Amino acid sequence: MSDPAQQTIVIVGAGQAGGETASELRKLGFPGRVLILGEEPQVPYKRPPLSKAFLAGTLPEESLYVMQRQNLEKARIEFEGNVRVTRIDRARKRLALADGREIAYDKLVLATGGRARPLPLPGADAPNVFPLRTIADVQQIRARCQPGRRAAVVGGGFIGLEVAAVLVKHGLQVTVLESLPRVLARVTVPEVSAFFERVHREAGVDLRTATQVRGFEGAPEATHVVLGDGSRVETDFVIYGIGLIPNTELAQEAGLPVDNGIMVDEHARTADPDILAAGDCTNHPSEFLGRRVRLESVQNAMEQARAAAATLAGKDAPYRAVPWFWSDQYQYKLQMVGLSGGYDRMLLRGDPAQGAFAAFYLRHGCLIAADTVNRPQDFMLAKKLVALRAPMDDRLGDDSVPLKNLLPAA
Ligand SMILES: Cc1cc2nc3c(=O)[nH]c(=O)nc-3n(C[C@H](O)[C@H](O)[C@H](O)COP(=O)(O)OP(=O)(O)OC[C@H]3O[C@@H](n4cnc5c(N)ncnc54)[C@H](O)[C@@H]3O)c2cc1C
Repeated sequence: MSDPAQQTIVIVGAGQAGGETASELRKLGFPGRVLILGEEPQVPYKRPPLSKAFLAGTLPEESLYVMQRQNLEKARIEFEGNVRVTRIDRARKRLALADGREIAYDKLVLATGGRARPLPLPGADAPNVFPLRTIADVQQIRARCQPGRRAAVVGGGFIGLEVAAVLVKHGLQVTVLESLPRVLARVTVPEVSAFFERVHREAGVDLRTATQVRGFEGAPEATHVVLGDGSRVETDFVIYGIGLIPNTELAQEAGLPVDNGIMVDEHARTADPDILAAGDCTNHPSEFLGRRVRLESVQNAMEQARAAAATLAGKDAPYRAVPWFWSDQYQYKLQMVGLSGGYDRMLLRGDPAQGAFAAFYLRHGCLIAADTVNRPQDFMLAKKLVALRAPMDDRLGDDSVPLKNLLPAA
């Protein structure tokens, strides 16, 4: 084992996982060289505000940064932006860059995240049809966000709904087009979907479910969205949020196992002992779920990055967290813990009509997941209960019984 002080750790990807891996390496006392290479110009940054406060214009760009440039320098973390890594030469432990350079590594961390799934539709290449994944995407969208203009949002998932909330509050006329019969259908129950559909409609969003988008008309810019029934929606610009494609090509071309994500173990190690991976780009074993999973969340990116840094620093800190997630729309905070897929019973606590409630998901009588809306205390308790897979009874759905009374005795 070579002297760590002489080692170079290269991190590919300047997102939340890349930034956290670097800062955690320093916290753990790694003395060697740490270099982050990112395709975007910015230092590692956080994406959640992109569809929330940053789109609304109430948050400056610098507040997205995981670490400000001077703090990176203080921590001796080197960063190069506008750099695309095109190939990993595992035998020579070198990276090829798009600009022709080569960079040597002792250990490599792939934190390459993902890219917006493109809309495979005629007219989707028009210059006013945008994904929303990067600061650059938001800058382009914001330039078109004048009150009174019309925006079409394709996809009623988290990103689409958050964008709709921001734009309608900003005075735009917003139409959301979702192909499934309800919004958020892949992640929550009909009761939670119905709540968000109602609040969006009350805010003035023209929300259309079970609506297929067939393409876009107009040139050079799209002026109409063409729907499956042949009708058209007039628009000034389009934003789509229909999912993510993990950036796994580098790993795959280097011969590392990839299956809906770069395959890693709970220490973030790939099949190559000198290459680790963390964040949206990985497929990892989840002790909690009892299976492999690829997650797209800040919690996953941060905690997996910490496991990767620990492995690199020679420490044993496996990634075993229970997944959690949040979304902000209007004055509502949706917080989710666990994954609800496979539940056999759902209990509602509180009344959606009051704007604060929780959906609890049971399997074989045990709590496997919870979605809470404007119930932060319930969420904190739900995190504990879900982690324990606590056995639950009907009292879970009875708001007159305090949730903390249902915590199993220590
Ligand atoms: C609009 C939006 C809102 C979100 N809201 C929430 C939320 O409310 N809550 C939540 O938990 N999660 C949210 N997420 C998800 C969360 O932001 C992601 O899970 C998280 O950013 C993943 O971090 P990452 O570091 O794995 O990947 P990324 O943030 O995608 O970073 C990867 C970086 O690697 C770079 N890269 C890729 N390939 C190369 C290469 N070959 N060479 C150089 N650089 C490369 C990419 O350009 C990118 O900058 C949101 C995401 C988006 C887009």
